[in-house]
Amino acid sequence: MIKEVVEKIIKDIPGNVEIVAAAKQRTPQEVLQAVCAGVKIIGDNYVQEAQKTKRALDGDLQWHFIGRLQSNKVRRAVKIFDVIQTLDSFKLARLINAESHKIGKVMPVLVEVNVAREPQKGGIFPDQVEEFIQQVLNLKNIKLIGLMMMGEWSQNSKDLRPQFKEAKNLFDKIGQLHKDKLDWKYLSMGMSESYKVAIEEGANMVRLGTAIFGQRNQK
Ligand SMILES: *Cc1c(COP(=O)(O)O)cnc(C)c1O
Repeated sequence: MIKEVVEKIIKDIPGNVEIVAAAKQRTPQEVLQAVCAGVKIIGDNYVQEAQKTKRALDGDLQWHFIGRLQSNKVRRAVKIFDVIQTLDSFKLARLINAESHKIGKVMPVLVEVNVAREPQKGGIFPDQVEEFIQQVLNLKNIKLIGLMMMGEWSQNSKDLRPQFKEAKNLFDKIGQLHKDKLDWKYLSMGMSESYKVAIEEGANMVRLGTAIFGQRNQK
């Protein structure tokens, strides 16, 4: 089942769009089926869960952190993950930088932008992203490679289009501004309900949970 679904999604989306399988609450066996169908990037919201899944799977996979990163998990996250998609404060940036420095790593990160401007949600407000990036550019063990955004919860996918547009504009603007300094390449937006619209609006990385694995258990 999972295998057929993933193969169809890969066939249907443009070749330049990367799929991140959002693996929260999934078993390694489920994740393995997605991998067998061609998924190369696994996203997880939890450091410990990712660690377990990673131990159970081998192969040439990339691991992306896509959850809220707590300070006390940064050390482990920096070791386990290839990309952190949810950088949203300078405090977190400094911690990631320090822990990466200790292990001699330059950590690739995406800046999470809060296009919906929902205060209860993570992410830098759009009008503060440029200044934030200027600050983070001073941290030598962080490498900024793009933007990540989450749409507003309450909206259906069509209503998210203006938010995707705004994120794309911001992504292009920053890419232009820092074209000599940054390897600025990923715009991570769109989830199971919204990825088609997100791709139409310029996403080149989509994060899919339900669309690949089916409904999650309610916790
Ligand atoms: C769970 C999750 C997803 C995937 O959500 P679905 O609606 O199941 O596709 C994508 N991004 C983040 C940050 C998530 O936490």
